Formats: sequence, structure tokens, C-alpha cells
Amino acid sequence: MSFFLTPALRFEKATDIRPELLNSMGVSLLILDVDNTIAPYGQVTLDNQVLSWAGEMKAAGVKLYIVSNNKGERPEIFSKLLDVPYIKRAGKPSPRGVRKALENAGVPPERAALVGDQIYTDTIAANLAKVKMLLVEPIKFTNPFLAIRYFFELPFRTGKKL
Ligand SMILES: [Mg+2]
Repeated sequence: MSFFLTPALRFEKATDIRPELLNSMGVSLLILDVDNTIAPYGQVTLDNQVLSWAGEMKAAGVKLYIVSNNKGERPEIFSKLLDVPYIKRAGKPSPRGVRKALENAGVPPERAALVGDQIYTDTIAANLAKVKMLLVEPIKFTNPFLAIRYFFELPFRTGKKL
């Protein structure tokens, strides 16, 4: 069971994931979680660092695809800012949204990775869909619930940290 809860690799933040690393892993599609992975909850803009990082990914031949559980407008706003497709209400930990992104992008799971901040949604969805899970630290705890959930994720935040 713990296989489903443990990431392949860990990073401090999404922008620490270098395109060259993904190329060396044979990854040509990077699926992006939104909340607390590329922007804190509620923020409707993307930091310049994230925008330039996304540009570097594309230049290196890594396609990007937003797959978010968010039900609001931010997945679409970020999709436009980054000029990448999106799926919202993805229902992670169900692998449904991740599989849909793979299908739409025409990329097999072994050539895809998902970057996200959560164990019980992102990591499970990635592992069920058989894509590599790249776990990052949440950008910001905006309410106590997020900090409590993080505490219960700690036993599974065990992958190799790069
Ligand atoms: Mg998240």
C-alpha cells in the first residue's frame, strides 16, 4: 500500500525541477498541480520565476498540462498565462484526470511525470496512473487545516530529495 503514497523524487519547489533532468528520465510531459505547487491558494497570478521556468520546459521539449482539483477559475487563468491545456475538478486521488491528460497529450505514462505538493491526492493519482511523482513542499500554509494535513503526510514524504 505504501507504494501508492510515496513519491519518486522530492524537491523544495517546482522550479527546482530542471528540464535536463526530465529529458534524462525520458519524460516529455509534465503534469502540473496548481494549488500550493505553482501558486499559493487564492493567488490569481504566477510569479515570474514560474513563468520563465515553464518557458524553459517548453523550449526543452517538455509539454506541460495542468491537472487540478480546483473548481474555480484559476486552472483556466493559469492555462492561459502559460499557454498550456488544463483539466479542472480532476478528482485526484482518482487517476481519471491524469489519464485524460495523457490521452489528450498523446504521451504514454512512462514518459510522464506529475509535480504536486500533496500525498493523499497528487501522489496517489500519479502512482495509480503510473506516472512519476515529483513531490514538492507546499508553497504556503494559508490555513491551519493545511498544516495539520501536512503533518499526517510526513511519514510518506520519504523519497530522495534533489
Ligand atoms: Mg496542491
